[in-house]
Amino acid sequence: FDKLKEGLAKTRDSLTGKVDQILSFSRPVDEELLEELEEALIMSDIGFQTTTDIINLLRKRIKEKKVSDAEEVKKLLKEIIIELLGNEVRNILPEKTLAVYMVVGVNGVGKTTSIGKMAAYLKNKGYKVMLAAGDTFRAAAIDQLEVWGNRSGIDVIKHQEGADPAAVIFDAIQSAKAKKIDVLICDTAGRLHNKKNLMEELRKINKIIERECPDAYKQTLLVLDATTGQNATIQAKQFMEVSDVNGIILTKLDGTAKGGIVIAINNELKIPVKMIGVGEGIEDLQEFDPTAFANALL
Ligand code: GDP
Repeated sequence: FDKLKEGLAKTRDSLTGKVDQILSFSRPVDEELLEELEEALIMSDIGFQTTTDIINLLRKRIKEKKVSDAEEVKKLLKEIIIELLGNEVRNILPEKTLAVYMVVGVNGVGKTTSIGKMAAYLKNKGYKVMLAAGDTFRAAAIDQLEVWGNRSGIDVIKHQEGADPAAVIFDAIQSAKAKKIDVLICDTAGRLHNKKNLMEELRKINKIIERECPDAYKQTLLVLDATTGQNATIQAKQFMEVSDVNGIILTKLDGTAKGGIVIAINNELKIPVKMIGVGEGIEDLQEFDPTAFANALL
């Protein structure tokens, strides 16, 4: 929780600072107060639609509960945020094994780093993990994945740069089966600007996974960079056009005042944020706990 609170420091400074200011002195709980809150929420990248939803709910609750104390409004606001996020802790633990996770996201969002952290997280939980270097477009991506694998003592299946990604995934699946791996995490290329190729590539990989292990627990996880704020939502929508996304890994929450984006993603995309990145270290990927998040935020 401390790491989460520390990670959200910038968001807290901007959002909580303003919210506290608005609610600090004894003033009437009226439309003007709600308008000021609305502005503070929008500024922290909670998004226009989600902010409107929150403020409407808040107005309704204030009326229902006849709230006249500004401090009470903060409590209601926190409650509403937890409700919107859904009140259960999320993670990427497999529902059964073999599990095959395809990780997608544009270059630079922290995809490789997140895969490295995910692998370590799952290994710590007792699962046997393997990585597949499916981003064959960049030699650096393959090397980087290997560095993470070596660091955690986890096998990395790779081909040469330029190889067919589907062939890498095919080999990885055979190896995972032979070695009785629990979770196979597959890196993929992040070339969203070449949508048609990317879609074709992901479709081909999906087909291989479907054919080689039809009973596997399959997940497509999208990595998004919180520092890009509302652009992350736009990026997510583009990826949702090329593949079925089951969950989101939101990175770099520690480096941004735009942490409100977590709430926008959950509310507008209806895809659960499953893990959050709060630093560059191997242990800096956390399960997403809506209650802890709201408490760290407000
Ligand atoms: P990729 O191109 O998507 O594979 O991105 P990388 O995994 O290479 O990450 C890009 C940069 O973001 C690296 O310098 C990472 O250390 C950094 N990074 C990734 N996740 C986080 C995070 O949660 N917090 C911070 N502060 N940096 C991160």
